Amino acid sequence: MSRAGCMAVDPLIELHDVNKYFGELHVLQDINLTVGKGEVVVVIGPSGSGKSTLCRTVNRLETIESGTIRLDGQPVPDEGKALAKLRAEVGMVFQSFNLFAHKTVLQNVSLAQVKVRGRKKDEADRHSRELLDRVGLADQALKYPAQLSGGQQQRVAIARALAMNPKALLFDEPTSALDPEMINEVLEVMQQLARDGMTMVVVTHEMGFARSAANRVVFMADGRIIEDRTPEEFFTNPRTERAKDFLSKIL
Ligand code: ADP
Ligand code: MG
Repeated sequence: MSRAGCMAVDPLIELHDVNKYFGELHVLQDINLTVGKGEVVVVIGPSGSGKSTLCRTVNRLETIESGTIRLDGQPVPDEGKALAKLRAEVGMVFQSFNLFAHKTVLQNVSLAQVKVRGRKKDEADRHSRELLDRVGLADQALKYPAQLSGGQQQRVAIARALAMNPKALLFDEPTSALDPEMINEVLEVMQQLARDGMTMVVVTHEMGFARSAANRVVFMADGRIIEDRTPEEFFTNPRTERAKDFLSKIL
């Protein structure tokens, strides 16, 4: 069944009239976006349209000038311990994997569990090994990042994000830095997370993933969301010229 057929209604991430500027640049303009629990929302759009800024705004890596952001019904705090807690609830996976080069795969996945979640090292390591198994890397736990392929490193980054037991995961072009033969192994892990009910916001140009895993496709241009529809609707019948033009270039 297509995931659009079982749309969750209980909101997890809610952005209401969000505006953000970088100096003169109005980078996010009246953004309204709700992501339901268990939903997968794919964000696409031309380079510079504000997709990364949108992701970073959700867990307050960027401040906003106006509007509200709620996570699981609670306003996202501006600073302090409450913000640190919030960041732990929303995992992020970036284009560049950002692993600690001088730590093993296992240490990379365990570290924040001990430091932020206050788990005992044994318990964190056990959890990490389960997650490494889940992303197909059970046998790589004691290697260092440089000994792994890009696709394997990105799967470690996903395991590390999952290790905090986040309520949602944000992915910002997770496969853009990968050689083509490694893209699928990362997308397959993401597909499995989607099937398992993880709430996900995914910035990607992988339209196959959008078609098969997304409940909704959000199309951004010039800091605005100009389409927010099911993949079927979006790909077969884009409403705006901007989206038609974009699709004609990438499909
Ligand atoms: P996308 O991810 O869709 O390519 P971004 O969110 O990275 O877009 O960027 C949107 C716009 O904001 C671009 O014009 C970019 O140059 C600008 N921008 C992004 N980050 C900053 C920053 N820290 N300071 C100033 N301008 C920025
Ligand atoms: Mg970007």
